[in-house]
Amino acid sequence: MMGILARSGAELTPSAEDADVIVVNTCSFIESAQQESVNTILEMAAHKHGGKEKKLVVAGCLVERFRDQIRKNIPEVDAVVGTGELETILEAAGLAAPERNHGQSASQFVILPSRPEGDARAAQGRFSREAWSGVIGDLPNYLYDEATPRVLATPRHRAYLKIAEGCDHPCTFCIIPQLRGQFRSRRFESVVAEAERLARSGVREITLIGQDTTCYGEDFGLKDGLALLLEKLARIEDLTWVRFLYAYPNKVTGKLLETMAREENICSYMDVPLQHASASVLKRMKRGGGADVFLRSIAKMRRTVPGLTLRTSFIVGFPGETEKEFEELCDFVREAQFDWMGAFAYSDQEGAGAFGLEKKLSPREIESRRKHLMGIQRNISRTNKKKLVGQEFALLLEGESEESDLLLEGRTPMHAPEIDGKVFVNDFPAEFEPQHGRFYRCRITESHEYDLVATIVGD
Ligand code: SF4
Repeated sequence: MMGILARSGAELTPSAEDADVIVVNTCSFIESAQQESVNTILEMAAHKHGGKEKKLVVAGCLVERFRDQIRKNIPEVDAVVGTGELETILEAAGLAAPERNHGQSASQFVILPSRPEGDARAAQGRFSREAWSGVIGDLPNYLYDEATPRVLATPRHRAYLKIAEGCDHPCTFCIIPQLRGQFRSRRFESVVAEAERLARSGVREITLIGQDTTCYGEDFGLKDGLALLLEKLARIEDLTWVRFLYAYPNKVTGKLLETMAREENICSYMDVPLQHASASVLKRMKRGGGADVFLRSIAKMRRTVPGLTLRTSFIVGFPGETEKEFEELCDFVREAQFDWMGAFAYSDQEGAGAFGLEKKLSPREIESRRKHLMGIQRNISRTNKKKLVGQEFALLLEGESEESDLLLEGRTPMHAPEIDGKVFVNDFPAEFEPQHGRFYRCRITESHEYDLVATIVGD
């Protein structure tokens, strides 16, 4: 949306005070996200009441779920933009109608073709589901391509790159497939062209995302699509680090692991949300697998990709989760020794399969289990981070630390942007003038529960 707006002549500002049009991009994945979205809309609505006239646009997943309620209950909202209708941001912002835009002619605005890739794919019947079963009337099938303008919301040296949209998995706690539509991959050439363009513009680290990156290419009959894509991205010289997030457990193939092990600029980093470890809970989640299968698969990952950093996340307090099933999860976490782990409290979502399940746990019980699991991981993390002291790693220097002006902050290949612990840099050779967005060698000098302290030792 920022790219489309900027290409049409809009000037972007992070300040709601200064803006003529305020766009609130929302999430409605779980209840706390919905609440946060509504709070932000109300906060932004207050800006409409003081002084200059402003437009308020609400975009994103909340619109897909509650389009009519938003319009009815928050009259300050001038327009809504769902996840499948991004181009309408121009009209919503008042930029697509020339007479409303201070005399600029329509030719000054580039109207994008709608769903350049999604349309083609739908016409060829490549979706893996026959019928749309979402909570909204229309199937969202928007998919951007390399020609879609982008404005990076991340620092200049790194970018997220979405390789696919939507999801065909039936996880019973999740409404993402209903919000985002069926799984569809971007064209191979489109992803590569965008990665090359990003590299030319100074991006050195790319993080591939999608609801399920490991299914990449399946919808157009590509086998091991992600591995093939990584191979191709590894050839782009200026990209120093490429990683992907959100792997689906049983989609991590031997070829994918071998590609990660072989290609130097593909980070040895695997994010595979397992959601639980008890086979009976996983069955109720409609995901399959269990502690034994997962442990075998983790052993294979570590065997094939030396020095692998492993990240996962779990949902705690799924309906009917017994103490025994929770204990299975705790034992599994102790054994698997993840480098990074997140634990989320189960959030009941209308429209999700699990909404109708019995034996819901109380929020208090769920929170106490979540804390217990995080406590186990904290100890594991503390012990394992200690072993890194004295070792040297590549470091991408990101800038001044948010914690203190006296510290710099960076990441090693073990750290994905925004989600993992931090590396604080407190020393560097006197002749150095550290530059943000550049790579250095660092030595770890201290470790904490999740964070590390390092010294830059060279280029
Ligand atoms: S794979 Fe992820 S996005 Fe897809 S249904 Fe399951 S949890 Fe939701």
